[in-house]
Amino acid sequence: MDISCEVCGAKITGFDSCRDVYNKLSFYTLSRPDQKFFIHQCAVDAYAAQHASENTKPITTAFALIGLNLFVNYHYTGKQVQNAHIELAKNKREWPVFIQPEKKAKITVADALKAKHGEERDQMIKEWAIAVWDMWKNQHGAVMELLTPYLTINEERQQKNKIS
Ligand SMILES: [Zn+2]
Repeated sequence: MDISCEVCGAKITGFDSCRDVYNKLSFYTLSRPDQKFFIHQCAVDAYAAQHASENTKPITTAFALIGLNLFVNYHYTGKQVQNAHIELAKNKREWPVFIQPEKKAKITVADALKAKHGEERDQMIKEWAIAVWDMWKNQHGAVMELLTPYLTINEERQQKNKIS
């Protein structure tokens, strides 16, 4: 019998829950030799953004969406996204509540785990991140609003470094 995740629609046959599929994938992403790119961060953000609900802490979904935006549109590596999260967390603020759109993404954690170990799976994780970001289309503007102050500060810092 095919069992699917009620939230993201992933086929979870052979696992108890979608979270179990994700844990299995995390075991893989954390063991990847290229820790400079840090593919794990893409998986963390894709999974979180795809499972956002009213029970999710606002900061969790906001950070996941910011991470996906930086990855998809600004070509940040996972490591750079992680650093951005650390920087953003320094500003204590109220994070807006994002409710996941009803439309589902075409790719899920199950597809990522199904892809062949190595380059192929890393590629699938990147495509998964893009698909989840795409699913949130109606919130792209709101995410950009959160991100713009951070990007401005970062740019100014880079300019300063160039001059000095
Ligand atoms: Zn799921």
